[in-house]
Amino acid sequence: MYQNRTDDFQDIRDAVRALCAEFPDSYHREIDEARAYPEAFVDALTRAGWMAALIPEAYGGSGLGLGEASIIMEEINRAGGNSGACHGQMYNMNTLVRHGSEEQKQRILPKLASGELRLQSMGVTEPTTGTDTTRIRTTAVRKGDRYVVNGQKVWISRVQHSDLMILLARTTPLAEVKKKSEGLSIFLVDIKAAMAGGMTVQPIRNMVNHETNELFFENLEIPAENLIGEEGQGFKYILTGLNAERTLIAAECIGDGYWFTDRVTAYVSEREVFGRPIGQNQGVQFPIAEAYIEIEAANLMREKACRLYDAGAPCGAEANMAKYLAAKASWEAANACLQFHGGFGFAAEYDVERKFRETRLYQVAPISTNLILSYVAEHVLGLPRSF
Ligand SMILES: Cc1cc2nc3c(=O)[nH]c(=O)nc-3n(C[C@H](O)[C@H](O)[C@H](O)COP(=O)(O)OP(=O)(O)OC[C@H]3O[C@@H](n4cnc5c(N)ncnc54)[C@H](O)[C@@H]3O)c2cc1C
Repeated sequence: MYQNRTDDFQDIRDAVRALCAEFPDSYHREIDEARAYPEAFVDALTRAGWMAALIPEAYGGSGLGLGEASIIMEEINRAGGNSGACHGQMYNMNTLVRHGSEEQKQRILPKLASGELRLQSMGVTEPTTGTDTTRIRTTAVRKGDRYVVNGQKVWISRVQHSDLMILLARTTPLAEVKKKSEGLSIFLVDIKAAMAGGMTVQPIRNMVNHETNELFFENLEIPAENLIGEEGQGFKYILTGLNAERTLIAAECIGDGYWFTDRVTAYVSEREVFGRPIGQNQGVQFPIAEAYIEIEAANLMREKACRLYDAGAPCGAEANMAKYLAAKASWEAANACLQFHGGFGFAAEYDVERKFRETRLYQVAPISTNLILSYVAEHVLGLPRSF
């Protein structure tokens, strides 16, 4: 059940909805139960050109903006799917489009647009440093025409379903840089070549069906031509991807939020207890209405973040705030949906428990709620730095 709210992106919404309708709840449920990858679904999105949304037309893509990309992600989640299987391609794409060399763009973008290659992975997080990204310990040392990488990453998603990964590594030791954000670089890693020698992949079984891994690098060699942008400036470049990622995740949460409010509204309108629909009770109505209001508000911040991002303007605050508001709203909606389904909320066949688990992730990843509050306190309000 979709509410009849329309916006400038209605054509995209309708097309993505039509594609998603070919993959009903049962498809996503079975994939979740089997801990499998939704190969057929991602292939269909690729064939329809949605995974190439952010690739400029000159390189074979559709040249759309983050606003449109976020609608695609929203609609996938709103239809009961989980964009986590494929959103990496969207936010990684912009890092390459904005900071890659012309040679890299010519070499890679047309193949991403045609679906011949996938760029679904980004390797940033490390086990010993967590959110303190500038202290990562993975190093890349230049030796002639190659970089040699050593270190470890954790929670690196979709490695098994990607051909390329954007990897963040330290190229100048922390002790030798003026600012801790300097001396970090990003590289394009050919995953198959890396798995053949230099990179070991260890899957992590987790609460949701999110294909994610621990990676170990031992003298992994990367051709120097795979450095993106200037050596030492990688942290700045990766932020482009992270702001896009946060905005897209906000859209996914908004999609989840509408899914929960749609489902629970339909359920409480029909379910009769004490001789009347449970949705007639204000104790049931109010939490659903409250979640809906919060989703709508988060949506406004998502739209603002997309507008700024697409205009090339600073959008760190808006991207973070959109993700914060949307993750909070989808979680409120998830709780209301589970609660008012009563016992049935726990039955896999209703899909509520699956979506509930999936949307819980967004309080923690790709950035935790506390770190967003800290960003706003320090970078927007100018409060003293706490770390
Ligand atoms: C399913 C999944 C998929 C992921 N995919 C990827 C991926 O593809 N690529 C990638 O690079 N990473 C990925 N991640 C990692 C994710 O981005 C991190 O888990 C997340 O940023 C939190 O980092 P952490 O787990 O190291 O937590 P920590 O940094 O150890 O933090 C733990 C908790 O402490 C709190 N905390 C820490 N410092 C402070 C502070 N100063 N003030 C207040 N609170 C604080 C945090 O809010 C958090 O709740 C993924 C994670 C998951 C779970």
